[in-house]
Amino acid sequence: MSESTETRGRKRAIDFSFEFFPPKTAEAEAGWWRSVEELAAYEPGFVSVTYGAGATSQAPTYAAVKRLVDETRLQTASHLTVVKAGKGEVDDVIRRFRDAGIRRFVALRGDPPGGIGTAYSPHPGGYANAAALVSALKAIDDFDISVSAYPEKHPESADRAADVAMLKAKAENGADRALTQFFFDNDVFEDYLNDVRRAGIVIPVVPGIMPIQNLAQLKRFAAMCGASVPAFVERRFEGLDDDPDGRFEAAADLAAEQVQDLVARGIADFHFYTMNKSKLMTAVLDRLGIKPGDTLSDAVPERMRA
Ligand code: FAD
Repeated sequence: MSESTETRGRKRAIDFSFEFFPPKTAEAEAGWWRSVEELAAYEPGFVSVTYGAGATSQAPTYAAVKRLVDETRLQTASHLTVVKAGKGEVDDVIRRFRDAGIRRFVALRGDPPGGIGTAYSPHPGGYANAAALVSALKAIDDFDISVSAYPEKHPESADRAADVAMLKAKAENGADRALTQFFFDNDVFEDYLNDVRRAGIVIPVVPGIMPIQNLAQLKRFAAMCGASVPAFVERRFEGLDDDPDGRFEAAADLAAEQVQDLVARGIADFHFYTMNKSKLMTAVLDRLGIKPGDTLSDAVPERMRA
């Protein structure tokens, strides 16, 4: 039996999306595109491209999503933030992206212009937060809208209740799903999800999974955005400072184990932070038994899709 006959018709039990950031140099673009082509073969539910803060930030994102729309069959979502932009400006961006073929957005407030940790003040004539942006998107067209969620609380939120209230506002305004900040402790996610459901929020909350490309960098980033890197994660990299292959294997194992544990808890949809790199991502999928061309199983129970 040939390889193609063996793999044809294979079904996978989980759905997933891949997040990219817009490449800013020709060299980065070439590397990103190789990753896109390799990961496209896994037939993700959708891919998304992040968005910087402020009006000038749209150019790299626009170029990236336009290329995805024009040259692939991937469902493509553009992230969009409201930082430093008036309502009219944001509405113009939405229409411009729609005219380029974008039907999906990840609607975000964005980080304070002074950087994470500084005080946020909305643009005087702008949308106040992501919930207002969801309404603005819905007023323009019937887009598919994802929003953020924070299992470990957003650093600016007073407490989890404030965080969940914001997610509820985004869901009530029309968000289709939430994609979470990355986390490593699945108990924390499950606890958060229980609070979300108790608050009457029924949209899918899709765990954001971060395969660890570089532990030191990740720890710095996690500290800024209020995500924790538990000791059990650090232990997996102990003694591997001079062993890049060992670190790669540890990172792939960790991410795959995290997904498998979440699947055992009834989750069947995942958002992967790819960092524009396909090698580690495909190693994770390989450990999950997912091959290029596998299609989503019809047999996935409804509970697991939510
Ligand atoms: P919101 O949902 O509006 O708020 C998040 C939380 O912060 C709320 O729970 C609320 O309680 C609290 N909060 C908000 N404003 C205030 C305030 N003024 N006072 C007190 N509490 C407040 N950033 C980018 O720049 N570009 C991206 O492409 C991008 N993509 C992301 C994708 C995902 C899946 C996630 C999880 C995050 C992403 N971010 C991105 C980061 C995000 O922009 C920041 O976390 C930002 O600080 C909050 O944006 P938000 O849409 O989550 O805000």
